[in-house]
Amino acid sequence: MTEQVEHFPALVAEEAGDTVRLGIQELRLQDLPAHEVTIRVAYSSVNYKDGLASIKEGRVVRAYPIVPGIDLAGTVTASDTPAVKPGTKVLVTGYELGVSQHGGYAAYARVPADWVIPLPDGLSLRDAMLLGTAGFTAALSVHRLQENGVRPEQGPILVTGASGGVGSVAMAILAKAGYQVVASTGKEAAHDVLRALGATEVVSREAVLTDGSKPLERQRWAGAVDTVGGRTLSSILRNLRYGGSVAACGLTGGPQLDATVFPFILRGVNLLGIDSVYAPRDVRLTLWERLAKPWKVTDRLARAMTVVDLDALPEVLASILRGEVTGRVVVRVA
Ligand code: NDP
Repeated sequence: MTEQVEHFPALVAEEAGDTVRLGIQELRLQDLPAHEVTIRVAYSSVNYKDGLASIKEGRVVRAYPIVPGIDLAGTVTASDTPAVKPGTKVLVTGYELGVSQHGGYAAYARVPADWVIPLPDGLSLRDAMLLGTAGFTAALSVHRLQENGVRPEQGPILVTGASGGVGSVAMAILAKAGYQVVASTGKEAAHDVLRALGATEVVSREAVLTDGSKPLERQRWAGAVDTVGGRTLSSILRNLRYGGSVAACGLTGGPQLDATVFPFILRGVNLLGIDSVYAPRDVRLTLWERLAKPWKVTDRLARAMTVVDLDALPEVLASILRGEVTGRVVVRVA
């Protein structure tokens, strides 16, 4: 089956000297890569990595020009494989989308069939992108904490970068699953929103830092979802309770990690690496089902949702890089 479309709008990022220029352009279906499944995109979302794709120093894009957008939800319009039928509602996150091939900030996308996840019952296309890559990453983080034995009765779970995308979904899932959640944020103004998202306590970014002079500090956290990295992650390792785990998924505070082996060999703590980009397909299917049912938090997340059109993206991408976004930003594409 093929689709008859003359051209369609897309946000294109192009190199302009030392910078990247963003603008809406008209593309044709033949501008998309030659893969099996063509999707009419309904929604995409804004993740920190999309911000990085919009600047040269971000180093996530292999070659410009590119349509950014590391996730999308929409309806299949054409497919070269019986495994994915036209008319099916689907979502895609990660892989090469929006970094080395055209992504979700366009009315159409074409992807390999094995990137495509059927939209689970219980989620709308908008809900899928209200969660998006951030939501899947948050679900993966909570799943890995649980796999490593972190249970609600063991004590508080710290979520850092709590007002951001991954942080806000992680808090909402943890609260729904019965955990006590401590949110750490740099945004004074976000405290009420964070409580509404599921935080039982809200603290400043500085309140979770240790001075680094001792390899082990007070046992505070039964677990943590860390989106910040750097000094924040080093501090969490020193403050984890005996047998606790931290899911390390981000680096908004920096990529360095200053650590000793003591938390690992004296407290048996776990540093869990989280990668959503190449997460195996069976894990994706399981976690998207969970996000649609026992961990369904979209009503709660919708309280801190912003919906934008393609033309608002240059400004929104700049603000996510400045750490100014609260909650999730959904992009209405069609
Ligand atoms: P957001 O920008 O939505 O959230 C990040 C939050 O981090 C901000 O809202 C802010 O929260 C905090 N923050 C920002 N700058 C700083 C800073 N300099 N120091 C300390 N805290 C800061 O981004 P996302 O939620 O989309 O992504 C979060 C991180 O997770 C990113 O590093 C991203 O690359 C990574 N990521 C990794 C994935 C993986 O597969 N491993 C997948 C998705 C994201 P506050 O103001 O509340 O403190």
